[in-house]
Amino acid sequence: MTDFPHYLLEGYGQYKGKTYTRLQEDYENLAIYGQEPKVMVISCCDSRVTPEGIFHAGPGELFVVRNVANLVPPFENDLGTHGTSAALEYAVTALKVEHIVVMGHCKCGGVQAFRESGGKLGQTGQFVGPWIKLLEPAAISLACTPVEPNDDPQLGMEYAGVRQSLNNLMTFPFVEKQVKQGQLKLHGAWFDIGSGELRIMDGETKRFEPATDFLKGELEEDAKA
Ligand SMILES: [Zn+2]
Repeated sequence: MTDFPHYLLEGYGQYKGKTYTRLQEDYENLAIYGQEPKVMVISCCDSRVTPEGIFHAGPGELFVVRNVANLVPPFENDLGTHGTSAALEYAVTALKVEHIVVMGHCKCGGVQAFRESGGKLGQTGQFVGPWIKLLEPAAISLACTPVEPNDDPQLGMEYAGVRQSLNNLMTFPFVEKQVKQGQLKLHGAWFDIGSGELRIMDGETKRFEPATDFLKGELEEDAKA
């Protein structure tokens, strides 16, 4: 007997019978030779935002960390239990990923909780409150130097949170070193759940532009094929 959710058992049956069978050789090689992902993705826990699905990635391709509101905390030189920082350290120093993508998304509950807290973050939860407080510098930068028209405060805060996490990434000495040596690139992205639109942050303007703008030629080729 088990009270393990039956729909998960059924899903596993589908995976083992179809996905695993199709990719069996890849899985066997990954088990033997280890993982060598080139990309780390930092995404939200939100069940609607799945990095492997959005980037059509297979096993071994993405090193993914998901946390509430896709946040990277600043580097802290203490003995705290920093889960996201530990994953970051492993990705950069051991796996030597070449890209880190911080991916925000629409209707982010973590961002919304921060916006609605009115400074009373304690009411958002013992652990959630201090965590989403990491958005505070983003809110200040948004108020002082808005990058785009702030007619949608939730969206503006979601973008600002991604920019803040990219700034925080650079406070980690091992990230800063790899970036300055040209061996690591940092990227911002944002995903619209309803439309499936992905936006990518322009490295110079810091504005978010549709990913399809960078893909145009290829999409047209696909449509013809
Ligand atoms: Zn979220």
